[in-house]
Amino acid sequence: MNFCEGCNIACEGERCPKCGRKKLRAVTDDDFCLVGKVERLFGDSLKENLESEGIDCVLMPYGSGVNAKFALPLESYLVYVRYKHSDKVRRIIEKI
Ligand SMILES: [Zn+2]
Repeated sequence: MNFCEGCNIACEGERCPKCGRKKLRAVTDDDFCLVGKVERLFGDSLKENLESEGIDCVLMPYGSGVNAKFALPLESYLVYVRYKHSDKVRRIIEKI
């Protein structure tokens, strides 16, 4: 599995699916990888649940530029976890 440091995405191919960069390196267990997107309402409880299981989780606000500009609440979070936890967390997110 390869890893794009620009996007924090782990991918099978030699090219990042998001930015198209080809200079990828091998992913390590501790790399934070994008695993999905959750509604803002679910983000905080997801993070709490994961951290209670000892899983580090980073939430990045994700929303339209207009919302950001006017400082309105953003719609959703992008969720990043360490690669070693990514399969498990991806399954959790799919159930939400
Ligand atoms: Zn990339």
